[in-house]
Amino acid sequence: NVEIERHEYDVVVIGAGGAGLRAAIETRSAGLRTAVVCKSLFGKAHTVMAEGGIAASMGNVNSRDDWQVHFRDTMRGGKFLNNWRMAELHAREAPQRVWELETYGALFDRTPDGRISQRNFGGHEYPRLAHVGDRTGLELIRTLQQKIVSLQQEDHAEFGDYEARIKVFQECTVTELLKDSSGAGGPQGAGAVSGAFGYWRESGRYVLFDAPAVILATGGIGKSFKVTSNSWEYTGDGHALALRAGASLINMEFVQFHPTGMVWPPSVKGILVTESVRGDGGVLRNSEGRRFMFDYIPEVFKDNYADSEAEADRWYDDPDNNRRPPELLPRDEVARAINNEVKEGRGSEHGGVFLDVATRLPAETITKRLPSMHHQFKELADVDITAESMEVGPTCHYVMGGVEVEPDTAASRVPGLFAAGEVAGGMHGSNRLGGNSLSDLLVFGRRAGAGAAGYVQGLSARPSIRPSDVDAAAVRAADPFNPVDGRSENPYALHSELQQAMNDLVGIIRRGEEMREALDRLRELVGRAEHLEVEGNRQFNPGWHLAIDLRNMLLVSECVARAALLRTESRGGHTRDDHPTMEARWRRKLLVCRQSENGVEVTEQQQVPMRPDLLELFKPEELRKYYAEDELSDVHAKEL
Ligand code: FAD
Repeated sequence: NVEIERHEYDVVVIGAGGAGLRAAIETRSAGLRTAVVCKSLFGKAHTVMAEGGIAASMGNVNSRDDWQVHFRDTMRGGKFLNNWRMAELHAREAPQRVWELETYGALFDRTPDGRISQRNFGGHEYPRLAHVGDRTGLELIRTLQQKIVSLQQEDHAEFGDYEARIKVFQECTVTELLKDSSGAGGPQGAGAVSGAFGYWRESGRYVLFDAPAVILATGGIGKSFKVTSNSWEYTGDGHALALRAGASLINMEFVQFHPTGMVWPPSVKGILVTESVRGDGGVLRNSEGRRFMFDYIPEVFKDNYADSEAEADRWYDDPDNNRRPPELLPRDEVARAINNEVKEGRGSEHGGVFLDVATRLPAETITKRLPSMHHQFKELADVDITAESMEVGPTCHYVMGGVEVEPDTAASRVPGLFAAGEVAGGMHGSNRLGGNSLSDLLVFGRRAGAGAAGYVQGLSARPSIRPSDVDAAAVRAADPFNPVDGRSENPYALHSELQQAMNDLVGIIRRGEEMREALDRLRELVGRAEHLEVEGNRQFNPGWHLAIDLRNMLLVSECVARAALLRTESRGGHTRDDHPTMEARWRRKLLVCRQSENGVEVTEQQQVPMRPDLLELFKPEELRKYYAEDELSDVHAKEL
């Protein structure tokens, strides 16, 4: 019987990135006692790494922008597989969330007349990304933390305790969600969330949160891939926790490979080179010096992108009379183009292509608008980006797939379990536009907070935690100290094999036979993971932490591989060499992963048809490029 520290809250938010903090502000503002739990130090979430900006149609730089244009761009970016209601809420509410951030103290870069400045980004028709140089995420996190501190000060004034209604548990990892067994949770009955179990990273001591609502805001899954822009925390914990608790994941086949990660030196391979470099004028060239993106404009985007360098260059100063440069196509298009140039022998020495901003902008503009990039290349690669080109190539960056949620409340299928931010699925369809994540975090973080608050306030009784479930969670967490038999597997070795397999077999370009091989390898790795063994004890033991994270990475990787194998077409972040085109029969199909006794099961689910008033925002000629014939005859028969 191990000693377990116990806390009681109304809501537990797992994750202290943008989504988690915005959700916590909402639940606390509704008067609920809220715990924020995060794996790393408070303030060091993924969100802090965001560079380019936050997308919101404020229309400060081009007054033609509005939520409808933003909605259209988002749906196009996601190749119409997005949950359109989420895309609508996001486009409508993003400006309010940015202005709200200003009221919390955010200091954005300004236009000459003093409004929040907005920059160009791939797939966005107008300059739309509010930014702070190339350190926007840092300002976002700083501001949300500041707001939390101010709420804590209010609580101190009222209750004499800063942490009376909001407390942060940092360096604390959640390993299990607990569910009610008694049916005491009112109308929700048995099966509703009743709490979360975890451990303190430093001491290894166990901790139990007793709470009727849990908001997952755990971010992405990138650490299952070898080359990634993601940091150590992104092991798909929230995705796996949700799945094990009985929730469903959607769109897991869609993983975004950002076109521009560093490729050299090897130690920094994958680190992000922000899209702002291209948004601000940077261009991509191959080893022959050619701006190759003009060769890769897909049919569906032909009308909106320049077909000559002269027109593309004019666009920066006169966007109303010229079409945008093809370097600003959505990320999936640019990543595939780079991949192809390298494959056809026109790549750089280290297997990338060249990103040139040096010949395009004066040095002082580069250091002012892209200070982090300047610093990053100087320090890590000894490259001065004001004088030389950067070598770049695709890197695993973002997962579009995630917990299936109800759009307005962020509720999952499990009563009391909510999800927001990168861990939630649907909003971005098959591909996310740059800048649409930071706005997603704020819009749906707030909605998840409100959803959870409404849910808790409607409960007639608190759900209960079964002591045997807690004991079982503690035993499972300690498994790696007690391997089943003498066989011993090392978590670091297993992790590296997983990353290699996902990179090589379920990466940017996929093939059926390779994904089948990936599933065989995953099965083998899951078997070997039963025998993971770590030395020492529970006090700060990174090997043990990784052993626990690995279970999540293996489960989530299986979802990605299974869904990717089933979808026999190429769309957005899912590209198949053996099925290279977008197929009408997959247009309306979503793939849903659930966990059953037999492992991960993937089923097809029909996308809900778009509301007519939203559908009317698109020209029939455009819909014709995406929609299936029968769908078109159903919805737009008259106009077509
Ligand atoms: P995160 O910010 O990823 O936070 C997750 C939180 O969950 C962390 O606090 C972590 O500790 C915690 N956590 C995870 N697992 C557990 C667990 N088991 N127990 C307890 N806590 C846990 N998007 C844009 O829109 N614009 C940009 O300019 C942009 N630039 C980017 C640059 C980089 C380098 C990267 C990597 C991403 C960028 N993105 C950008 C994407 C965006 O930053 C992320 O999608 C977003 O920040 C995710 O936020 P989140 O709140 O969902 O989760």
